[in-house]
Amino acid sequence: MRGPAGRFAPSPTGPLHLGSLYTALASFLDARSRGENWYVRIDDLDTPRNVDGADDEILFALEAHGLVWDGSIDRQSEHLERYTSVMTELNRLGLLYYCRCSRRTLAGLSRYPGTCRACIEPLKDSATRIVTDGTTITFEDACCGTQSVLLDRDVGDFIVQRRDGIFGYQLATAVDDGEDAITSVIRGRDLLDNTSPQLWLMKILGLGAPDYAHLPVVCDHHGTKLSKQTHAPPVQSGQALHNLRTCLMLFGFSRPPPAMAVEELLQWAVSGWDRASLPDGDVAVQSDPAGPA
Ligand SMILES: [Zn+2]
Repeated sequence: MRGPAGRFAPSPTGPLHLGSLYTALASFLDARSRGENWYVRIDDLDTPRNVDGADDEILFALEAHGLVWDGSIDRQSEHLERYTSVMTELNRLGLLYYCRCSRRTLAGLSRYPGTCRACIEPLKDSATRIVTDGTTITFEDACCGTQSVLLDRDVGDFIVQRRDGIFGYQLATAVDDGEDAITSVIRGRDLLDNTSPQLWLMKILGLGAPDYAHLPVVCDHHGTKLSKQTHAPPVQSGQALHNLRTCLMLFGFSRPPPAMAVEELLQWAVSGWDRASLPDGDVAVQSDPAGPA
């Protein structure tokens, strides 16, 4: 049995940008400040979106920023047997059905209306959905406060295996965080809505659940969210100290002492880390995130 642990789980769809470095650093500092392990898992199931070499670029950038992980790198693509056996279990519980609704049919709906619930025999060329019920999932988020979600009303029957055979994000993440005994998940607020379905899956599967902190979104000085979709520039590993200092200021640290090596700066940040004082609104970098102002 592993001890308490945090994790950073990037998708290899592009290089690390300042928004993802911010999340990685928060999760690293949080784990280290509690003397916990910190793991890196590459969430590489969505193969059409994967970019060749992006995983190596991300790992190189993490190391250059002193974010050295414990153990070996984990990859979701190596867990297919694990997900398949969970699907068998969910099927045994009578929770799965097969859906051929097109994206166009469902356009404009806030949640899936359960159209195909009666299709319980496997169908070719169909997505697999799970039947949600009236369970209320409540959890305490370290950044966003108490969250309470009524599963069938607020989430609806979600996809656990896509039409192209790829396992759904909720399923894979819940199973991996649960089976790998991750005790603390720190990630971006854009993933907050994913937490309730994941907690519900963990409950059904008898897996222990982590605690969560969903960090504010990092925007550039124009107010645009830094993400792969908005073409946020990759962090320059040669400017690791500058990038780390930028993130620490966004966490609300007072100006870090100058002239420190990367490891020293991280040590300084670990000793001053306080989850409770993380900002609760979006944060913006004041200068060009690609380099020093
Ligand atoms: Zn359907």
